[in-house]
This record gives sequence, C-alpha cells and structure tokens, in this order.
Amino acid sequence: MSVHPPPRPAEDPRVRVRRVAWIGLAALATLAVAACLDLPVSPPRPAVPASGVSASAVVDAPPPGVIRVRLKSTSVPAAITSAGTFVLSDAQGRVVGRTASAQITPGPGTLLLDGRDLGPGVITAQPLDGSPLALDGKVYRGSLRLGPLPAVPRLNVENDVALDDYLLGVLPREMPDRFGLEALKAQAVAARTYALYEVSRRGWVFADTRSQVYGGIDAESALSSRAVRETRGQVLTADGTPIKAWFHSTCGGLTAPAAEMFADAQRGVLDRAVGCPDCRASPYHSWTRRFPTDQFLHSLGLGQQPLTSLHLETDPSGRARSVEVAGTAGKARVDGESFRSRLSSGRPLKQQLLSTWITPRIESGTVVIDGRGWGHGVGMCQYGAAGFAARGATHDAILRRYYPGAEVTRLP
Ligand SMILES: [Zn+2]
Repeated sequence: MSVHPPPRPAEDPRVRVRRVAWIGLAALATLAVAACLDLPVSPPRPAVPASGVSASAVVDAPPPGVIRVRLKSTSVPAAITSAGTFVLSDAQGRVVGRTASAQITPGPGTLLLDGRDLGPGVITAQPLDGSPLALDGKVYRGSLRLGPLPAVPRLNVENDVALDDYLLGVLPREMPDRFGLEALKAQAVAARTYALYEVSRRGWVFADTRSQVYGGIDAESALSSRAVRETRGQVLTADGTPIKAWFHSTCGGLTAPAAEMFADAQRGVLDRAVGCPDCRASPYHSWTRRFPTDQFLHSLGLGQQPLTSLHLETDPSGRARSVEVAGTAGKARVDGESFRSRLSSGRPLKQQLLSTWITPRIESGTVVIDGRGWGHGVGMCQYGAAGFAARGATHDAILRRYYPGAEVTRLP
C-alpha cells in the first residue's frame, strides 16, 4: 500500500477501483510509484493461484506463523549466498547440496544446480548456522524456495519467513521512522492484518506494491522493529477474521468509503468517510495541476474542440465517480479513476493527479484541477496517523479512527 500509489491504465470495466497499490509511502521513495500509478486497475484477486505459480508452491503451504513472499519470477539464474552454510533440499526432502554459494538456473519445467538437473520440484534453501541467506545479494530472514514453471525456462523465488520477521522488512518501506512510534505501531498492525488477509485469499504475498513493499534485512530500522515487537499478535478483525486493512499516503481531510473504491470491500467495515484533521502537514494535502486544453483532450482520447464545461459526479467523500467533459462538438463521461490515470500516465509526479478528490475548471484555454490527498483514501491516512500521533494519540486511537467497523484483537 504502499501506498501506496502504487496504483493504473487500461481499466477493467467491471470494477471502478483505485486499487491496492496506492497503499504506502513506499511510493514516495521509489520509482515504482510512478509506475504503479499507471498499472491497470485490478479486480479482486481470486483465491486461486495466479498464472505462472508453480503448483508445488501453492499446494505446499508454509507452516503456521510463516508467511510466503514471492520475491521474483525470473528467467535468469538465481544466486544464493550466505556468510555461513546452507542446505539445499528437493521436494522430497533429500539434500542436494550443502554450500555457502549456489547458482540455480531455470530450464524448461526444471531447475539446474551448477549444471546438474534437479527435476521439476521445488528446491528449498535453509540456513544451517543462523547466517541469513542472500538472493542476488539481497539478504532475507527465513528460508528460500525456488520453483520451476511448467514448460518454460523460468523460476519463482519465494521467501518463507515468520510473520513478524516479514514485517521488520516491510514497515520501513511503507512508513518512515520520522512519523513516530505510535504511527509506526498503527502501521505495523495494519501491515500485519493486510498480509494475513492476502494470505487467506491467495496463500502468499508479493514483495512490492501489489501487496506491500518488502525489503528484507537491508530495509530494517530499530524504531520500526520496536513497533513490530510492541504490537506482536495484534490484528484488525471484523467477525473474527482479519480485514483488508487498506492504507494510503494522504487523505486530504476526509477518507473514502471502501465500497466507493474497491470491488472487494467488506460490508460494515470502512464503510464511511472519516474526518482527518491531521494530514495538513503532508506535502500532498492539496495540489493544483494545469493542462492545456489540447493536451487534456488528447490524454482523455477525445477529439480537439473548444471546451464548454466540466461536471463532476462525486461520492460521499467528495471524490470523483465520473467527470462529464462537454465541448462544442459534444459530451463524454469519463470514470473518475480513468480520468485520474489518463491525465497522469507518462507524466512526472509533479504533474500527475494524485487522487480522484479533484475540482476541475476551465480557465482561458487551460484546464485547472485542484486536488487533495495522495492515494485511494481508504483506511489509514499515513500522514494523518503521524499528525494524530504527534498530538499524543496512541496506536489504538489511530486504528479506531481509521478503521471503523474493525477491532484490534490478538492472534491466538
Ligand atoms: Zn488524512
């Protein structure tokens, strides 16, 4: 969630969704942001493996308390190294290597270890002496799994890691330390909940803004690790199960009801807009963008003509459900998210529409759009959480504000 924005282009017409990727401040710090903003809108993911997932990676679920993170899917060899020794085992548990360094190469439906064919099963790398494993130089807690894809020379690399060890590598990528301990604790609970929700649906999580940004050990910081530790076991639930705990960078003063943004919104949870007086300090709280009329019409795929009016239909939080663009040659209605993404695609961040909370107007040959916030606006406003914490709010109070309909409970 990263925030982020992560979020997207050609839209799926079945859903008008801003998408998960808007989660997270990770977007602020990475180029992924801009890319994410232009990703396609995704329908809710089914509880079945996505294409390209090796069957063994799905059938062989990790043990309780361990989360499976998809680090990469690649056609080039994967290098696993360690400062100590690790063991490589095949799908039957047989040791196929004991080393400090190995190169696994994908073949069509098989894996090769230093040139030796290991067959079609998943290979597991497990540290022997506590020294963490590195994949292509990036260090991770837990174990690594490498699974070939059927028929093509490609492999998936996954990291099986204890839930809270995973969060140690997520939190600093999704919220900076300067937001303060209580905001970080709220983020830890949200991130833990979000991960559990995704695992319950898909069985694993992505390591980027499609889920939450995960940087492994290199990402960890002392303060965010403390936030994870001090919230151990805490999750947001409704009817006894983890909710989809969306979060975003900046709401701009009012959050958005989940059902306005996401097709998989849960009934009774995040179902109303929440006032947020605490994100005023965000650099994304309010912004203005200007588009020459010809560029504006071109971006929306409309013919060149003098514009006569722009009319918004808004949701209960004031965000655009649609924009009616009228010119001398006719009218067109554009879905709010399409309007945002089309006018953002290929542009630098400072020229993008950062949310659908917009007020457009025509001003002598130019379309001027005033906007508020960054992201989909659903769930926790991260800048708002930081501002609320700075006024003395606890992480409990932060979560109660931004997740109406959910309660903080403890994992058994
Ligand atoms: Zn806010």
